[in-house]
Amino acid sequence: MNAIRHDFRSDTVTKPSAGMRAAMAAAEVGDDVFGDDPTVNLLEQRMAGMLGKDAALFVPSGTMSNLLALMSHCGRGDEFIAGQNAHCYKYEAGGAAVLGSIQPQPIAHQADGTMALYDIEGAIKKGDSHFATTRVVALENTFGGRVLPVSYMLAVADIARRHALGLHLDGARAFNACVALGLDIKEFAAPFDTVSICLSKGLGAPVGSVLVGRADLIEIARRNRKMLGGGLRQSGVLAAAGLYALDNNVARLAQDHQRAKMLAEGLARHEALRVTMPDTNILWLDMDAELGQRFTDFLTESGVGVTGRYGQQRWVTHLDVGDDDVAGALALVDQFFA
Ligand SMILES: *Cc1c(COP(=O)(O)O)cnc(C)c1O
Repeated sequence: MNAIRHDFRSDTVTKPSAGMRAAMAAAEVGDDVFGDDPTVNLLEQRMAGMLGKDAALFVPSGTMSNLLALMSHCGRGDEFIAGQNAHCYKYEAGGAAVLGSIQPQPIAHQADGTMALYDIEGAIKKGDSHFATTRVVALENTFGGRVLPVSYMLAVADIARRHALGLHLDGARAFNACVALGLDIKEFAAPFDTVSICLSKGLGAPVGSVLVGRADLIEIARRNRKMLGGGLRQSGVLAAAGLYALDNNVARLAQDHQRAKMLAEGLARHEALRVTMPDTNILWLDMDAELGQRFTDFLTESGVGVTGRYGQQRWVTHLDVGDDDVAGALALVDQFFA
């Protein structure tokens, strides 16, 4: 296999920039399990302030952040509602069930990526000894790179409020959504009790997520973070990368979205490809499965990294791909179809 020259596999592949590494090297640190790391404390305060919440917790990964959120909302034998393709249901190795003793109630997605409000409300269970008790609804936005409407989030929040449920947002790429919507993240986060944000995706940090939310929920999460082995020590070195990302890498997400559109337009020139115009930095295309296999093999051989199978491909733009990568990849695609 050839080395990857144009890497569109994921926005997790970014490497810390020179400026980010300098900020990490200069970070003031302490023992964060003792609450002594000034840089971690600063990142947590900054994120809580930005999202308009009481408190925040720096954690090693988005997976741990979602798990901690669910564990704060639910006790043993309780239930969370999430989409059938939600990361916290499908892509976290069953952690909520295994480590949290929490049962998932997955809900089918509609064509636009949302869950039907009727399905959510119909799945809520309370006050009957047959059932696990529903405690929280988890939304994800962006979802597969798609920006789900704020009106949808508010409608689900209304259901949660009427049934006295918690509301969690897996906002791994919430900043992408906010940049695409031109919306302040405080307003985006407003309906939620807890929000999980990844620093290690489009924001370009090497490690880390932040769970933000109500003080009582974050306090439980802090204890469970220790239990799960996520209590880090001089993690200010990592938090400094997150602070640098908040200062330097949020507004520029618009460039990633622009490049995803350029890719989409270039790919859509080929009739065999069914391209969905991207809202943010994740582009999906579908094609005949046999063609998909040949096309993916060609891209791999040519040093273009993408993911996908069964005739579906995912291309992701990020900090470490530029206009030259977009042009280079599209030239290779043209060559394949010529
Ligand atoms: C990447 C991702 C996560 C998990 O983040 P990790 O840091 O990889 O554990 C959670 N939710 C969504 C939507 C993601 O894309």
